[in-house]
Amino acid sequence: MTLPVDAPDPALLDDLVAANRILYSEGVVDGFGHVSARHDKEPGRFLLARSMAPGLVTGDDILTFDLDSNAVDAGSRALYLERFIHSEIYKARPDVAAIVHSHSPSVIPFGATAVALRPIYHMSGFLGAGAPVFEIRDAGGDDTDMLIRSPALGAALARRLGGAAVALLRGHGNVVVAPSLRLAVFRAIYTEINARLEAEALLLGQGRVTFLNEKEAAAAAAANSPQVGRAWELWKHKAMGGSR
Ligand SMILES: [Zn+2]
Repeated sequence: MTLPVDAPDPALLDDLVAANRILYSEGVVDGFGHVSARHDKEPGRFLLARSMAPGLVTGDDILTFDLDSNAVDAGSRALYLERFIHSEIYKARPDVAAIVHSHSPSVIPFGATAVALRPIYHMSGFLGAGAPVFEIRDAGGDDTDMLIRSPALGAALARRLGGAAVALLRGHGNVVVAPSLRLAVFRAIYTEINARLEAEALLLGQGRVTFLNEKEAAAAAAANSPQVGRAWELWKHKAMGGSR
């Protein structure tokens, strides 16, 4: 028997719709990728759209899942194949309130080479904790379709993420987590920008680049976190066609 679920805060649902639109508008997701938020009243559940392009998500498309990735209220609607990314990370990381999974293009080379994704400027201080690379062959063998389509693969990814904010999926994309939905969106956007800038700096500097050190990265991340609302309002204005 499924226990009744308290309705999530309507403001959280609004933010999750906006998060989908913003991530599309800012070039982090395209027709693929997804963003979820932990349920504000039931930490053993999370909110995620039905299987569809993030840029088209409305409030009616948001479904509630348990931590085994069963949808409580899906009916006949299709689910994202890679929803196990979300359920297994929420299980492993009680501090995480939101997760973005994308194939944001500039990050891909860092998952496929030995070059580490590191904080090149203050907006990406959250990368100071490292961005481990998840090698799916270690968990799924050498013949997967690269997708995190099972609880076991999701759990292996969560283990590789450890306590970091970002993990790279070799040959696939990345996962970004945060203690709030708006901060997860912020981090996903600046993960993409950092990757682009780092690649440029590596070329320009012929491999010699000065990154933020650990203390600078931590201090910059702490300074930026309270400022997320300012960027959010701008991104939302752009993504939602000028509304609010
Ligand atoms: Zn994917």
